[in-house]
Amino acid sequence: MDLYAQPIATRLTWLFDHAQNHAASFGSSETWLARKRYLAEHPTALAVLKCMDGRVNIPVATETPMGIIQPFRNLGGRFDLGWPHLGEVLFDYVMPRVREGRRVLMMSNYHFSKGDPHRGCAGFNYDTEAAREHTFAIRRQIEQVYGAGHQTVYPLVCGFETDEDALILHGANGATLNVAELTTTDMVPAYLSSLFPDMPEQIRADLLPLIQGNLRHVTQVRQTNREINIEHREWMICLGSGFDWLHTPNQALIIGPYSPDLADPVRKAAGILQSNMAAGRVPDDGFLLLASVPYHETGVDRARAEIKSRFLSDFAAAAITREFPQLAEKMHRRTAVLSWESRKLELLG
Ligand SMILES: [Zn+2]
Repeated sequence: MDLYAQPIATRLTWLFDHAQNHAASFGSSETWLARKRYLAEHPTALAVLKCMDGRVNIPVATETPMGIIQPFRNLGGRFDLGWPHLGEVLFDYVMPRVREGRRVLMMSNYHFSKGDPHRGCAGFNYDTEAAREHTFAIRRQIEQVYGAGHQTVYPLVCGFETDEDALILHGANGATLNVAELTTTDMVPAYLSSLFPDMPEQIRADLLPLIQGNLRHVTQVRQTNREINIEHREWMICLGSGFDWLHTPNQALIIGPYSPDLADPVRKAAGILQSNMAAGRVPDDGFLLLASVPYHETGVDRARAEIKSRFLSDFAAAAITREFPQLAEKMHRRTAVLSWESRKLELLG
């Protein structure tokens, strides 16, 4: 089925079936064990700060099992650790892992298209240089908070080229490793040692499977015709966090609730959806606004997530209605909470 050719009702049915299937698969003994085994073999915790752009999907592009890489998303991959809530969110991610004796690889990601600058990052007005500079600024902030010695939390700048889904790792002294230029990964361990001389050996060992997976993925991408899919084709705005169940690129613009000016990424996302419809890359009969907030425990924590999810949904709907009244008429709203343990999406009435 070509999902992009389907009316909005069919796409919504597909999406919530997909969410259910994901939870079933995520909770099965087989994948549960696979995750546990992966983490035992690769104990480094992996976090990525990246753009809301639907084409940027690092777990898919690196063939990493679901639930291993923790994404943080915002317009343009723009983050500032000084934002009222973000510093605490990252701290709450890092500390439990460090207490388990694990290290953290914290990637800050920018994206671009090698074929056409206008397929680059709308959040940076297609200025790849500025987007890349920003990821280095994030890296410096991570160093400020978690130390410049990089022995526990390692900040890594990486690019993502969306025509082929290739990763570019930025190392010492301006040197880079571009997965699109590899034919095998035999030499990658040696490259990593010279690119990242201060990177703990365990982190290097846990970074390697991402590069191997990315090379497999890039090879596969080159064998498929995806002329249209290198353009934006999102048809939903997801606001909140814990959307890794989606695991399908180019369906959603995903905005984490981090920016102190939250209306800004929402506006930008609505603009992208509008141009997707205008260009005929997605049907123009409707789009989805999905708010979802994860919770860890039933009772108070779930109630807290519910009230937050409703707030995010109302906030985004108001911002869209204000700035894009015609688009707003095509808005379908769903508001949900997500059980983090089971990854079950629970729609709120
Ligand atoms: Zn972007």
